Amino acid sequence: MALINEHLLKLQRNYLFADIAKKVNAFKTTHPKANVISLGIGDVTQPLCPAVIEAMHRAVDDMATEEHFHGYGPEQGYLWLREAIVKNDYLPRGIHLDPSEIFVNDGAKSDTGNIGELVRWDNSMAVTDPIYPVYIDSNVMNGRAGVFENGRWSNVTYMPCNEKNDFVPQIPDHRVDMIYLCYPNNPTGMVLSKEELRKWVNYALHNDSIIFFDAAYEAYIQDDAIPHSIYEIRGARKVAIEFRSFSKTAGFTGIRCGYTVVPKELTAETMQGERHALAPFWDRRQCTKFNGTSYISQRAAEAIYTPEGKQQVKDTIAYYMENARIMREGLQRLGLKTYGGENAPYIWVKTPGNTDSWRFFEQMLYGAQVVCTPGVGFGPAGEGFVRLTAFGRRSDCKEAMRRIGEWMSR
Ligand SMILES: *Cc1c(COP(=O)(O)O)cnc(C)c1O
Repeated sequence: MALINEHLLKLQRNYLFADIAKKVNAFKTTHPKANVISLGIGDVTQPLCPAVIEAMHRAVDDMATEEHFHGYGPEQGYLWLREAIVKNDYLPRGIHLDPSEIFVNDGAKSDTGNIGELVRWDNSMAVTDPIYPVYIDSNVMNGRAGVFENGRWSNVTYMPCNEKNDFVPQIPDHRVDMIYLCYPNNPTGMVLSKEELRKWVNYALHNDSIIFFDAAYEAYIQDDAIPHSIYEIRGARKVAIEFRSFSKTAGFTGIRCGYTVVPKELTAETMQGERHALAPFWDRRQCTKFNGTSYISQRAAEAIYTPEGKQQVKDTIAYYMENARIMREGLQRLGLKTYGGENAPYIWVKTPGNTDSWRFFEQMLYGAQVVCTPGVGFGPAGEGFVRLTAFGRRSDCKEAMRRIGEWMSR
């Protein structure tokens, strides 16, 4: 008899985006003429830049000839892409990585979800609250998160990020083995300073913990003092794995390409106290379960490191960040309290008068025909907030601000 993995039965239904869609559809049914603007879902809207499109066309042509056809590539990604990553994303920041420490993938979601396979199922873990749900659900599936009681997982340490602590998670007062950090943060749009990040690296060095650092939004950092990589912190190579993605950086949500950095110095112990480097095991894991992301996607990714590609990607990010500025300033003029949106494409808006997240979501939908994401959907500390994304079209952002203004002054 095949028995089901019973941890799967513990998963909480992820209501968030399904419930948003349901409520928006109900509104549209009763208001068929309304033009609803969605600033809710975290997907990009601007097309791929010309350098990427040209590279993809060339890659398709390669595939059409016997001479340049590419079948299975290296599971770790093509060396030319890994070299471009090392040279462009890390060297300019004084970080020396070897291409063998870079593992190209089909996007950060896969590896942030799979990385837990490197460590024993009974390691303890800590996450920020609110949070990108993948970090928790992937650990529920392998039993590490424990049982769900009173809205929280029994084996998970939650680090609330709220107005009281300026959205800076507090270091746990006990040992945890695994720590998930995402900066710039989805959903709050807030960042960690070098000093704050250094505290985490020192905590991990001291406690022999591993930090899983999701830097999917590093390209949106505008303030030069904010670290783009955890490896800007001394000692981080011993304790941190970093995830990056071309999804938000270059609009690759539909192309699929990202990468994970597992430094050679990163180690973990057996119960008997034997130390092992983790990179060879991640390599082995990938070679066993992953056959590489497509040649065409990797050529597309390589193109963002050309001079034209760099400029074009920068222009698109500037476009989104100008949206963020328009929205942030617009909302603040209306007297709303906003966080984030300065070094990230997300604006975390405090609901006025302690309205709960879902209620404010509905009020804004019915009052202004603008869709946001209820903050509580990202964790208990998100209650009383909504998330707006800057990934929309400029005209939609402006129109949304106009409507919200009109609605709030009614
Ligand atoms: C969008 C996002 C990613 C990237 O996901 P991909 O699988 O690379 O598209 C990773 N982490 C966070 C927090 C995100 O919001």
